[in-house]
Amino acid sequence: MVETLLIACDFDGTITQHDTLHLIVEEFGTRGLWDTIEPRLRSGEVTLEQAMEEEFATVRATPEQVIELVLRDAGIRPGLGELVRWSRAEGHRFIVFSSGFRTVIQATLDHWGLGDLEVVSHEALFSAEGCTLLWSDRGERCAECGRHCKRHDLRGRLRGERLVYIGDGISDRCGSGLADVVFARAHLARDLSETGVPFEPFEDFVEVRTWLQDSLARAA
Ligand SMILES: [Mg+2]
Ligand SMILES: [Zn+2]
Repeated sequence: MVETLLIACDFDGTITQHDTLHLIVEEFGTRGLWDTIEPRLRSGEVTLEQAMEEEFATVRATPEQVIELVLRDAGIRPGLGELVRWSRAEGHRFIVFSSGFRTVIQATLDHWGLGDLEVVSHEALFSAEGCTLLWSDRGERCAECGRHCKRHDLRGRLRGERLVYIGDGISDRCGSGLADVVFARAHLARDLSETGVPFEPFEDFVEVRTWLQDSLARAA
């Protein structure tokens, strides 16, 4: 039996080199605001959604300004296109699961020739007068983490494949717990290490593709 995979990939700090939300707030909102919010987020005083509402309340920029900034400064990790093409050729699915914003994600993927990827995310309406966040419906609060986390979206898209999760941050912690294989870097890698959850470290998608190819070849 050929094993098929659902490869679930975070966007900010995973597909991109730099977190686009931070770039946007630093450029068009209150610089340094994240540094005051992050400790409260880590301690559980505020949820990720509350933290994002606080950050983006200060942002004043048109969608064009936001996209120009992100295309200029976010960067993407090497090997994404090759991983996506390999996935398709092998009959696997690759879906982007983000707690960020569709406008930003779509513009980035379009720019890199990957505009046809499926994206599950929230959205932000940017304007010179202010910014409104539109939260996607993530169903009931997650029984695992008590938030509206990515687990809901992941469950809704799994079709019995093996789940591969690729991520870097707080928004990946709960969803990655569903996965058969987790590729982690940065905060997510530290969190999983601390809790003794196994993962594969990665810094680019060449490593991810090579690991998956080798592992599937061994299993065949
Ligand atoms: Mg991330
Ligand atoms: Zn959860």
